[in-house]
Amino acid sequence: MNAHILVVEDNPDNSKLVSWILEDEGYDVTCVESGERCLTLLEKGDFDLILMDISLPGISGKEVTRRIRQIPHLQKLPVVALTAHAIETEQQSILSSGVDDLLTKPINDDQLVKTIRKFLQA
Ligand SMILES: [Mg+2]
Repeated sequence: MNAHILVVEDNPDNSKLVSWILEDEGYDVTCVESGERCLTLLEKGDFDLILMDISLPGISGKEVTRRIRQIPHLQKLPVVALTAHAIETEQQSILSSGVDDLLTKPINDDQLVKTIRKFLQA
């Protein structure tokens, strides 16, 4: 069984790029475009990791992560944030929302794969 990654990203070009990279690595990928959709899918779906864009329409990636952490069986689900913010105070704020790691855009293939592998050891 391949690990299943949920990608939360409102920019279709980024979703496509990330899916392409992760599928090439043998992961199953599901993409949603909002935090609301992410939370709905988590109610029924089984995912091994979430790749979370922080800047989303509607509720932000930080708020989605906070809500995920309030759900008892999802407290340890790996969440990796994607952000365009390079500012350290903003990065601290993102990390304090409960994400496990943080990647800055533009997306770097190697860094993305390396980070995901850290959480999804076969
Ligand atoms: Mg975005």
